[in-house]
Amino acid sequence: MIDGVIKYNFDFTLSKPLEYKLWKDIEILRKRVFALKLIGEKEGIGYGNISKRVSKKSFVITGTQTGNLKNLKAENFSLIESFDDEKFYLKSSGGAKPSSEALTHGSVYDLSEKIGAVIHVHSKILWDFMLKNGYKKTKDVPYGSLEMIKEIKAVYKDIDPLKFPVFVMSGHEEGIVAFGEDLNRCELNLYEIISDFMDSISKDA
Ligand SMILES: [Zn+2]
Repeated sequence: MIDGVIKYNFDFTLSKPLEYKLWKDIEILRKRVFALKLIGEKEGIGYGNISKRVSKKSFVITGTQTGNLKNLKAENFSLIESFDDEKFYLKSSGGAKPSSEALTHGSVYDLSEKIGAVIHVHSKILWDFMLKNGYKKTKDVPYGSLEMIKEIKAVYKDIDPLKFPVFVMSGHEEGIVAFGEDLNRCELNLYEIISDFMDSISKDA
């Protein structure tokens, strides 16, 4: 399966682009993550996506195949109106179909109502680093799959997810997920990995 293809079942209603207030803070954060190439494009395929929670079962997420775009506009965002990860289904509207990893974000939101934002990025260097250094990790299952959803639940079973707000996807090369109470904390949790990585380099030097 080509990366970036939507695998879950969904109903999508093309509607007017989302209101500015729903996505402006995502876009501000995304500019920094894009500058770091944690969101971007490789071999013609866009990667990386960001979401923020709107209500218990609703969140705004960047649209499918937007990773290559330097700046996003209202029509590049999608509103997830409801989702059921066990049924592998979601309902969305907006100017764009949601990211192929939208249901993975949904599973993270299901871990705790305190989680308010999720970022999924790609980085070979950080992915290798996390796999070697004892970070939480999902087993060798593909991105955007039902197995991935089950894996996320298994990894965080009986623990406070916010104590371990980043994990690495063994079966999705370069794939990393960070989450947090809000977009700011989510971004800082992501940078925490970079900070640990930089520390490990300086120790080696
Ligand atoms: Zn990915």
